Amino acid sequence: MLLLLAAALTFHSDFEGGALARIERVGDTHYRCAVPGQSDQDDRNRQASWYYFRVDGAAGRTITLDLVNLLGEYNYRAGTHAITEKTRPFISTDQRTWTHLPESAVQWVAAEPALRLTIEAKANKLWIAHQVPYTNVHIAALAKEFAKHPALRTETIGKSVEQRPLYLWTIHDPPAAPQPRPASSQAPTAQPRRPAVWLMFRQHSWESSSSVVGESLVRWLLGNSPQAQAARRDFIWKIFPAADPDGLAHGGVRFNRNGYDLNRNWDHVLPGKMPEIAAQQRALYSWLDSGNTVDLFLSLHNTESGEYLEGPAVPLGERWFALLKNGATFHPSRPAYTVMPSTTTEGKPGRMTVAQGLWHERKIPAFLMEQRVEFNAKLGRYPVTEDRFRFGAELAQSIVKLLSEPR
Ligand SMILES: [Zn+2]
Repeated sequence: MLLLLAAALTFHSDFEGGALARIERVGDTHYRCAVPGQSDQDDRNRQASWYYFRVDGAAGRTITLDLVNLLGEYNYRAGTHAITEKTRPFISTDQRTWTHLPESAVQWVAAEPALRLTIEAKANKLWIAHQVPYTNVHIAALAKEFAKHPALRTETIGKSVEQRPLYLWTIHDPPAAPQPRPASSQAPTAQPRRPAVWLMFRQHSWESSSSVVGESLVRWLLGNSPQAQAARRDFIWKIFPAADPDGLAHGGVRFNRNGYDLNRNWDHVLPGKMPEIAAQQRALYSWLDSGNTVDLFLSLHNTESGEYLEGPAVPLGERWFALLKNGATFHPSRPAYTVMPSTTTEGKPGRMTVAQGLWHERKIPAFLMEQRVEFNAKLGRYPVTEDRFRFGAELAQSIVKLLSEPR
């Protein structure tokens, strides 16, 4: 008698950004997949919002995967979980094209809690992730594509805990070559001061959708439209494409390799523990100390449900919020611009975000923007790559408009 045995499914996360903890087999086609999560330097604030793995051997079968071990805490509040009944995983059969799992494939098991995925597998290799992955290879590919663009300059401002380079990109047209002066002319008039915009991405490594926005913004700025040409002539753009390259490599969540949250600690920078913050702060302050200005700073983030703009109590913030709300796909979950508190945790050092720290120490108009990954009613769907791309161009244009208006 020939006995046909279904081969066991196998699970893999040994690629850049991959993240999966313990696997438990419940049945031939039913597995429990623990989300690894990450905790801080004091083993607090565990967040389990990143999973990215491959399942092999599922073709032709209906498989059930329970994403478990979701509970954690946020700003010392226990019992929170970033993965909820309203989050929808992405799936791919080639690691390039990603779609959301359909509603019918996702079930919330509240008692545990767990997110149960029921997948009719059409291919032998399935990649599953919380968001469309965007890792160091994508950033390197973008830099390579535009390496010869005259307006893009790349520098390395330091190294991460694991010695990965920390990049700072500058987008600005190089100054025109000096023209020979006719004998009668006066000394050349001074160049007008160009407003400088500083942008920071991936302080938290799980927030891959923010990088898609960043890539789109860079592509728009380096593009051929008359608006983009004016934007790189009239403004200086300084971009940190990856604040935590180690996290992008390892599939981290929100802490560097020493456990420090790179969007806290801006009031308590320990260069040996958080070389990323030290290098970014040094780049910003040496820019200021050389007589330049930072006219706007933004750190872009993702959350599950919230979408908002937060910053100091300045009219610039109110005006920017209105531009984004009325002229872009930004769909705020808070009715108005949010004035940030001075810290995230009163009375405790090491709890200022980058925006709080830069405003506190140097009065830089520094903002934090969150964009949701859950259903966006303005888009009429769960945001996909195309939506993030659209917003990147909108974001660049909103900044140009904001800083071009009389202040
Ligand atoms: Zn974040």
